Amino acid sequence: PPPLPAFSPAGGGAAPLSPSLLPLPTAPAAAARLCSGAGSEAAAAGGDGAMLRHLARKLRASGPVTVAEYMREALTNPGQGYYTRRGGVGESGDFITSPEISQVFGELIGIWYISEWMAMGKPTTFQLVELGPGRGTLTEDILRVFKQLASVLSKCDVSVHLVEVSPKLSEIQAAMLTGGKVQPNPEDELAYMKGISKTGIPIFWYRDIQDVPPGYSFYLAHEFFDALPIHKFQRTEKGWREVLVDIDPEVPDQLRFVLSPSRTPATQNFIQPEETRDHVEVCPEAGVIVQRLASRIEKDGGAALVADYGHDGTKTDTFRGFRNHKLHDVLSAPGTADLTADVDFSYLRKMAQGKTATLGPIKQREFLKNMGIDLRLQVLLQNSGDTATREQLLHSYDMLMNPEKMGDCFNFFALLPHHRLVHPDKKDKPESKSPLLPVAGFNELLLK
Ligand code: SAH
Repeated sequence: PPPLPAFSPAGGGAAPLSPSLLPLPTAPAAAARLCSGAGSEAAAAGGDGAMLRHLARKLRASGPVTVAEYMREALTNPGQGYYTRRGGVGESGDFITSPEISQVFGELIGIWYISEWMAMGKPTTFQLVELGPGRGTLTEDILRVFKQLASVLSKCDVSVHLVEVSPKLSEIQAAMLTGGKVQPNPEDELAYMKGISKTGIPIFWYRDIQDVPPGYSFYLAHEFFDALPIHKFQRTEKGWREVLVDIDPEVPDQLRFVLSPSRTPATQNFIQPEETRDHVEVCPEAGVIVQRLASRIEKDGGAALVADYGHDGTKTDTFRGFRNHKLHDVLSAPGTADLTADVDFSYLRKMAQGKTATLGPIKQREFLKNMGIDLRLQVLLQNSGDTATREQLLHSYDMLMNPEKMGDCFNFFALLPHHRLVHPDKKDKPESKSPLLPVAGFNELLLK
């Protein structure tokens, strides 16, 4: 790829700065949004161009924007954003996710929550809070498990709280989970919509995690953090510079990456002095959300399960786009393609700031194996009469578990109260207390 030009505020010629930057992904395309490094030729530009025109006007008027600002506009702009308008998830969308591939995925996650609820002494009430629920499939599968284990949960008051910015996806979720029986919420309440699940559980919709009422909660974020805006930084001879998005002066309505001419507030705040990489992506919004989750868990109890593709602070350039299940140039036809970046779990761990304990990241295939996916597959295979269903079950198992597919690059990561892992007075009398129950998924599942 050509080197990045430095942005020159006068709008004049751009001087090449960095010799190596932003390689385009090169491996074969896949229907799931696999880890960075998997890819193909970028798809051709398209769409109605409304978002591009909007951005071009903005860039011409006030100069280049950070990649984070570009990503936020492209994904969640209230009028033209990708999630706002298209939704993207599912076979007919631009990418497919684990819950859409197999019901087993959501079922095992449902069992994880029940197992944690039991290990934490079966509190009489809990909220299931999902961030970015997509089509609602994952919640649907979890609620089916809750219904099947109703005798275990019988004395527990459960409610569901969905954090979703996309009006289009919230409608799809409402149809999936309630059969469409929802009502807008009066303006003085924080939830913008409410309904009752087909299994009789109250469901509320919010735009922001801060609007979800406090209380003992189990949080879930599956392929959510990867959709949040990232800042990109490049090491240069003159120090760290932020990568910005600008309009190409040579080609009308064509976007390009440039480097900030000097340090930006973000370079100062987000690059660690001990950083050894030459290119770094940081997602401050993910940091803020993890801080909120950690504070809430510390105060009111519960746990958070985060599942996504990502790394532990080692990768560099992972920003990529998807359209029609193919890789798509991130700067072409914004608003018509999904934009995403690998989740940096080391950053999430740091942002929990010790308020909670953290577990993982652990590979998806290890987590699901620990949760008993093999046994669940056997049961489903035995109960399915026709070959087509059995083939489908085996195929989806392979998709989730195969290290070459989703098994290795998707990870699970958890936030748990410290007392869940270390007994408060263990330091004083280590032998006098019974051992704490292992956390399912990160260890083998033991349901008692
Ligand atoms: N969890 C689902 C969907 C993943 S797609 C699945 O695994 O299938 C990302 C989801 O996050 C979508 O529902 C999208 O609308 C939502 N989303 C993206 N940015 C968001 C934001 N800033 N706040 C809340 N939801 C957001």
